Amino acid sequence: MGILDEAAQFIEHVADRIENSGWSLCPCGEDHGQARLDAEVPSVLRSDAEFAPKMRATADG
Ligand SMILES: [Zn+2]
Repeated sequence: MGILDEAAQFIEHVADRIENSGWSLCPCGEDHGQARLDAEVPSVLRSDAEFAPKMRATADG
């Protein structure tokens, strides 16, 4: 397992936590729009995770 595989797993783990465990980018307790951001972040993280294997393929090639 390469470092990019581990990174992809970590990203997926964090995205899952944000969606299912109530993790927030800003856990200060005040509502200043972070919920909207939190809702968008998992999909952004996952697109990064999908990118990692492609980066590895490029590095190997
Ligand atoms: Zn805050």
